Amino acid sequence: MTTETNAEDTPRQTANVDDDEIQKFDALAHRWWDPNGDFKPLHDINPARLDYIRERTDLHGGPVVDIGCGGGILTESMARLGAEVTGLDMAGKALSVARLHALESGAEVNYVEGTAEALAAEHPARFRTVTCLEMLEHVTSYESTVQACADLTQPGGDLFFSTINRNPKAYLLLVVGAEYVMNLLPRGTHEYEKFIKPSELAAAIRAAGLDVVDIDGLRYNPFTRKAEICGDVDANYLVHARKPA
Ligand code: SAH
Repeated sequence: MTTETNAEDTPRQTANVDDDEIQKFDALAHRWWDPNGDFKPLHDINPARLDYIRERTDLHGGPVVDIGCGGGILTESMARLGAEVTGLDMAGKALSVARLHALESGAEVNYVEGTAEALAAEHPARFRTVTCLEMLEHVTSYESTVQACADLTQPGGDLFFSTINRNPKAYLLLVVGAEYVMNLLPRGTHEYEKFIKPSELAAAIRAAGLDVVDIDGLRYNPFTRKAEICGDVDANYLVHARKPA
């Protein structure tokens, strides 16, 4: 599934896709699985966020979709636990890398190119669990993505979102610190204006007809390369939501 492109009326923008963002991720696609490369922080935080998810949903209870899966770090880790997983992304090159990596690792994942909105129109209420991590800060309308994730979820199903809070501390840690001082992330990875306050994300989740079950922080120490779930939502945070049965 692909979104049709027509340069004249830029439908990709109306389809809730920021083209510049997709190009950024495509350009870095070959780096995705280098644990010491451009996506190092995603590799380092994956065990903590995977634990958070598996403790809160039944990954074997029905199909799972990972929205904005990129090269498939979280997607593959859920498949390795035996989940039936679809990974969706708009960055075709990142998906090619994801497919190749799954072939090599033996992980069984169905990768689809497209938007959450298009998948939701095709498969409403299809998935038991929907994950959408570190992606909302890269789209044009996070509210639209949250609504699409809600539409994709079975009644009673679980959803997981993660993103970055918008405040001076998050700016210092995630933009100045990670991109400019520590060179942990490529410069330009994040746009501060697109960071989302937990209250704003919770409002979008409720507006989509979902219940907010939990909001927790994710603390990452780039020196020890360890991450842990914590109560401090000042920078990175995770939300567990549920669709009423
Ligand atoms: N969720 C993954 C990757 C996060 S990087 C992880 O946490 O490991 C953000 C990803 O979102 C990129 O792969 C980018 O291509 C994707 N993305 C950004 N906008 C998108 C959109 N509108 N539709 C689908 N994917 C999108």
